[in-house]
Amino acid sequence: TPVLQVRDLRVEIGERTVLQSVSLDVQPGSLIVLMGANGSGKSTLGMALAGHPSYHVTAGQALLNGKDLVQLPAHERARAGFFLSFQSPPDIPGVKNNLFIRTALNAVRESRGETPLDAFDFLNSAKQGAKGLGMPAAMLGRPVNEGFSGGERKRNELLQLTLLQPRVALLDEIDSGLDVDGVRAVVELVQRMRAQGTAFIVVSHYLQMIESLQPDQVLRLDQGRIAESGDLALARSIAETGFARANA
Ligand code: ADP
Ligand code: MG
Ligand code: MG
Repeated sequence: TPVLQVRDLRVEIGERTVLQSVSLDVQPGSLIVLMGANGSGKSTLGMALAGHPSYHVTAGQALLNGKDLVQLPAHERARAGFFLSFQSPPDIPGVKNNLFIRTALNAVRESRGETPLDAFDFLNSAKQGAKGLGMPAAMLGRPVNEGFSGGERKRNELLQLTLLQPRVALLDEIDSGLDVDGVRAVVELVQRMRAQGTAFIVVSHYLQMIESLQPDQVLRLDQGRIAESGDLALARSIAETGFARANA
């Protein structure tokens, strides 16, 4: 049975309907690549699933292990096991990165019946995770993302992903801003987490990374609907011929 079932999801931003009706099934440990032209609604799907207040779900459901995320406030969705890596991770001025991540992690641990990590134990695992991602430990002591480069922000998202161990993770253009080592770290991390049952939705246009990720399914979003579903061949054909021709 799918860990996440998105059913006829309709999402509005302001007056505008950005997602008309999106349905997809995500199996545990599986990986779906989501492609689509700029403005087709890929990030909107992530923001709506994460519970961003500007993205209004006006129809449909998103069942995570049978529980409808749409009915839950954003922090409850994270506790239920959904994780979004932002396309543009925001700054959180004045909030230290290590405290921010530890608070999120302990909320998730509590909901799983696990004991909270104290500052010392958290810092040890965070330092270990940072090291594996080629991220200087000093970044843990800085305010969240403040003054971080694009690649450092993406690494910081990956650090949260490794520590939180979600059931489903949506990675929105994780490769943008990352150097070759960063992209390799993504592929290794995703492989490791899939083996432990985490499912992924990966938004990307970077064919080389998509091929390394060995997706189970490739979807193309167009005008707020899933227009096409396939395997790696679909990603290759999009990379070769572009979206304009796919839509023609
Ligand atoms: P993608 O990630 O596929 O490039 P997005 O989901 O970011 O596309 O955007 C889909 C459409 O919704 C775009 O036309 C975009 O301009 C619009 N949109 C996204 N976020 C907002 C917002 N906060 N306010 C107004 N329009 C938005
Ligand atoms: Mg875009
Ligand atoms: Mg986007």
